[in-house]
Parts: sequence; C-alpha cells; structure tokens
Amino acid sequence: MPDCLFCAIASGEIPAKTVRESSRAIAFRDINPQAPTHVLVIPRDHYASLAEIAAAGDGLLEELVTLAHTVAVDEGVADGGYRVVFNTGPDAGQTVYHVHAHVLGGRPLEWPPG
Ligand code: AMP
Ligand code: ZN
Repeated sequence: MPDCLFCAIASGEIPAKTVRESSRAIAFRDINPQAPTHVLVIPRDHYASLAEIAAAGDGLLEELVTLAHTVAVDEGVADGGYRVVFNTGPDAGQTVYHVHAHVLGGRPLEWPPG
C-alpha cells in the first residue's frame, strides 16, 4: 500500500523501536506514548481497519491479539492490568489506516475512555 506509514515501518523503510515480532505481525513502541507501556501491534500486510482484518478470517487477528498479550507479559504489566484498543474509524479517533492494536499499561487507566 503506497504512502502507508505502518507499511513503511513493516518494511523497515521507516525506523521503529520494535519490541516483538511474529511471522505475520510486529510490535513497536508508539512514538507518542500515552502510558508507561504503549506499544502498537500491526500485521505485516496491509489491512485498513479491524473491519477488514476480521473479514479476512484466517487467524491473523488472533495472532495480533496473542502478540499484544505477549507484549504485556514482556513489559511486566500483565498481572497489574492492561488495555488493548483498536481505534476503528473516525468517531474512535483512528488516524492511521493500517490496523493496529494499542497495548497500554503501567498506570491506572480510566473508564469510560474520553
Ligand atoms: P490511531 O489514532 O489509533 O490511528 O493511532 C495511531 C498511533 O500511531 C498514534 O498513537 C501515534 O502516536 C502513532 N504513531 C504515529 N506515527 C508513528 C511512528 N512513526 N512510530 C510509532 N508510532 C507512531
Ligand atoms: Zn499499510
């Protein structure tokens, strides 16, 4: 996908602080962290949103969520609690249209979100 920021990170064209990888997914630190742990988990291949990757139905979405949990364990936030968020569409504040899970933890997180 041309001009996709996260495709460029997946290909190594744009550098990122990678923390974990699996065969079809990559986890890297958010450039503007909102919590002590703020990691993004993306598929290597381009899917615009949760809607698209859910429709693919080939286990990739499970791989993303499993990697998100593994990152939480690695970061030491799994026991205390953490949040996995897919902002999907404009009302949810999605700004990068390459699907990504935010993994947030390391501080108490408010509910409901803003
Ligand atoms: P969203 O608003 O859910 O689409 O999230 C996009 C996220 O990507 C935001 O939290 C940004 O801080 C993050 N982001 C944007 N550019 C980069 C980058 N070059 N490296 C890492 N994270 C980024
Ligand atoms: Zn992309």
